[in-house]
Amino acid sequence: MTTVLKRMLMLAAFVVYPLAAVSMFFYGNWYSFFHSYSLAMFFGLTSYCYFSLSLVLSARWKPLDRLFGHDRLIVYHAIISTLALVCGVLHAVLKFVYFPEPTFQSILGVAGLGIFLSVILITVILMLTTPVDRIWPFSLLLAWAKKSIHIDYTRLKTFHNLTAPAFVLIIIHVILAYPVQETAGRTAAVGISGLAAVLFYVYHKLFRPLVNYLADYRVTEVTHLSPNILHIELSGRKNTQFKHRGGQFAFFRFLDPACGFGEHPFTISSPPGVKNLTITVKNLGDFTARLRDLKQNTRCMIDGPYGLFYPEQNSSDLLFIAGGIGITPFLSILGELLNSPRPTPRKISILWSVRHQEEAFALEYLESLSGQLEGYHVSIFLTGKTALDSDLARNRIDYSRLKEEVDRFTSPEDIKAFVCGPENFNKAMQQYLKQTGVAQKNIKIESFSF
Ligand SMILES: Cc1cc2nc3c(=O)[nH]c(=O)nc-3n(C[C@H](O)[C@H](O)[C@H](O)COP(=O)(O)OP(=O)(O)OC[C@H]3O[C@@H](n4cnc5c(N)ncnc54)[C@H](O)[C@@H]3O)c2cc1C
Repeated sequence: MTTVLKRMLMLAAFVVYPLAAVSMFFYGNWYSFFHSYSLAMFFGLTSYCYFSLSLVLSARWKPLDRLFGHDRLIVYHAIISTLALVCGVLHAVLKFVYFPEPTFQSILGVAGLGIFLSVILITVILMLTTPVDRIWPFSLLLAWAKKSIHIDYTRLKTFHNLTAPAFVLIIIHVILAYPVQETAGRTAAVGISGLAAVLFYVYHKLFRPLVNYLADYRVTEVTHLSPNILHIELSGRKNTQFKHRGGQFAFFRFLDPACGFGEHPFTISSPPGVKNLTITVKNLGDFTARLRDLKQNTRCMIDGPYGLFYPEQNSSDLLFIAGGIGITPFLSILGELLNSPRPTPRKISILWSVRHQEEAFALEYLESLSGQLEGYHVSIFLTGKTALDSDLARNRIDYSRLKEEVDRFTSPEDIKAFVCGPENFNKAMQQYLKQTGVAQKNIKIESFSF
């Protein structure tokens, strides 16, 4: 399914779901729709629908992940949560005009909305990089807040989970509303849709972790590849193999108090089909720093795989561009390509940009593939200061270098390009690729943050 079609599908869900709910309420009574009291109902119902959709989108439901990819789902979750909040506030303001006296039912609604508002504010200020981050003066304020209020990401995520009790308050608020209680059908529809969203959440937060706990993995080896890069190998119980596509990631929760029990996303750097699974981790903060002391045999819960950052089975010309630790998805993709029947002719180029030679931990492996993969070409770029004994020259991936690489292929239109690296790197590479004639629809970007 094309990206445009997928977006249309999601847009349809955003429009059809609240429309169906509103139609049910106004059926046979549309003449009153534009009365401001009815508008309050309209915003209330829309907010409720969006709130429940937002819980479903965040539940890491595999069929949705396979269709949209985890990163897209997080974007949709953020958009729909914001819309739910805006509609909820409009509903509350309009209702207050007619019924300023607080009731048990209205207090529940305001409490739910208040919790939801604080979760969204904290998320936008401290957890996410959103388009607001680029608008002055918010850019300055948000940069200041992120720097001065340092709260661990896992704690922020725990706080984020308050949306669930907020939704429960809102379900009770909606079920107790007079227009809902008017007919059994409305009460059932509101109750069932709310319950379905809660079940998604319970499945995501309780049932799946329980299954992952029972099928846990063990750390078999921790190797220090460089002063700040670790290679962690894990094996499943009874030699179970983790089923993934090269390029996918999973959430890892190490059951060791020293690691803090929070779950973190890492790309699986080992190819599919091998006995033990590996991740390659760069020390970028509190949690990744603690992994240095990870002991053999530590239990680990793995939730995944997720993501769509992999080439289609039959794709021919592949251009991979990695920045720093962004090489990890390509290690498993290349491993998978090595073991799969190949369409002919195929060209594969990989460009890897690192700051220092010591960060080029996979150089030997990538070079060794030259003799094994037909049409394969690897180039390493060193952007930092080179050591005196370095055998790599200082160089960076710019437009002309990328053009040179694209010209190796028969035509830019046939190239499927994959980019994974820091945010600015990804943006620059995307720009260069488009300039060289690679179609936007053929460029896949993986960013190591949501
Ligand atoms: C899809 C994906 C694949 C990744 N693959 C790799 C990989 O192969 N190798 C690697 O070294 N790193 C990878 N990362 C990045 C890795 O998840 C973060 O570096 C790590 O979680 C940072 O945690 P920290 O506490 O050490 O750093 P912090 O300083 O706490 O966090 C740094 C940043 O990492 C992100 N982050 C932190 N915790 C989480 C979390 N629990 N969930 C989501 N994002 C979080 C946030 O954007 C945060 O701002 C990947 C990230 C994503 C989203």
